[in-house]
Amino acid sequence: MHDKLVALVTGANQGIGLQIAKDLVAHGFTVLVGSRNLERGEAAAKIIRGDARALQLDVTDEASIAAAAERIREELGRLDVLINNAAISNTRKTPGMSLQEYAKISRPSNTPLDEVRAVWETNVFGVLAVTQAMLPLLREAPGARIVNVSSGLGSLTANSDPAYPWRSFFSPVYPASKTALNAITLAFAIELESAGIKVNAVSPGFTKTNLNGYEGVESLEEGAVEAVRVALLGPDGPTGTFTHAKLGTIPW
Ligand code: NAP
Repeated sequence: MHDKLVALVTGANQGIGLQIAKDLVAHGFTVLVGSRNLERGEAAAKIIRGDARALQLDVTDEASIAAAAERIREELGRLDVLINNAAISNTRKTPGMSLQEYAKISRPSNTPLDEVRAVWETNVFGVLAVTQAMLPLLREAPGARIVNVSSGLGSLTANSDPAYPWRSFFSPVYPASKTALNAITLAFAIELESAGIKVNAVSPGFTKTNLNGYEGVESLEEGAVEAVRVALLGPDGPTGTFTHAKLGTIPW
């Protein structure tokens, strides 16, 4: 069995996932850089100083998920931390379309179901499928951690408040996919509490990445902080939480 702690970060070939991978390597982990495109994963792993290895993983592809779990077992024999980071925000936003313009075509009344399904396939069912596949390995680890990278945009409590500034962006596509992800996070946290596996959701904040056409304002380093903190929680740390680095607890 591999002698160092092992972390898998999905969608780690760019953006916040890549930064989380860099930070976990700096904390001494062997990090598996999950990437649906192996070449992009290999390129990302190369720029990380330390033990980072590319792992082909498309979270919407059952065969890819099964092969990834098998490879981890064969090559490393352990998995201590799973960061479910991979996500997409839409399938219809064209280059140059602002977030405001896209919001107008993704209302509950006019969003095509195909887009809702595609985004939920990655952001919700992908997380469920990857977590289920990795659980046998995680259960064998002495103090496994699962971190789901969510978004404050998915908070039902926040969106119920007329003063919430992002309220006009709440839609069945990306924001509601993160609401569903929060529910799945809590369900896993409840099931795995007795196994000592902590399952928490984090919000990176509005971070400058491909996901939002680089309209975000936080740096990648800032966006990765909370996921890394929660991945490193000790045995007395909480489970079933939803937090942000600066705002603290976010209401579900
Ligand atoms: P990003 O730069 O677009 O990165 C998303 C990553 O997910 C990419 O590596 C992408 O791979 C990967 N991905 C997408 N579909 C996948 C699939 N089917 N299988 C495997 N990987 C897949 O976006 P980001 O902002 O860093 O997003 C990271 C996380 O932060 C997401 O969960 C996002 O919802 C969350 N978040 C971001 C913000 C923000 O402001 N940026 C705010 C709140 C929450 P490709 O390179 O192949 O496309």
